[in-house]
Amino acid sequence: MAARDWDAEIDAWTERFRTIPDPPEVFARAIRDGWDPAERAALAADAEDYAARHDGWLREITASGWDLVRLDLRDPCGACVRYSGAPYSATGATPDLPPPPPLPICPACRHTLNLLTPFFMQSLGIHPEDLADDAVPYEPIEG
Ligand SMILES: [Zn+2]
Repeated sequence: MAARDWDAEIDAWTERFRTIPDPPEVFARAIRDGWDPAERAALAADAEDYAARHDGWLREITASGWDLVRLDLRDPCGACVRYSGAPYSATGATPDLPPPPPLPICPACRHTLNLLTPFFMQSLGIHPEDLADDAVPYEPIEG
């Protein structure tokens, strides 16, 4: 997976969060007071670390043939919340479902993709053929 330009993403997200309710705390502070260089560097390093671990995990599950995943959010910000609980096709084997968003979506959030196992779906009363109804394709931010 291509390396992400966290500096550019943090700039773009800072602009975007000016118009979105519930920005992550670190962005709310930056919008109010300007970026603290150390805090900004730490955010970029954390995001890169998280992205690398997530990509490794995604490679592992797709290598083992797993396809269906669900995005589960932890303390979602106003930008990420729309993807809460949405199903994705990790390998493209399910044409009705979009590919998962790159994680982290915004640099401050730490969401996870979790396996939609048959047992898990059954316990939630989800039918695989209905998953596409809950699909939320990821839309990258511009800038
Ligand atoms: Zn977020």
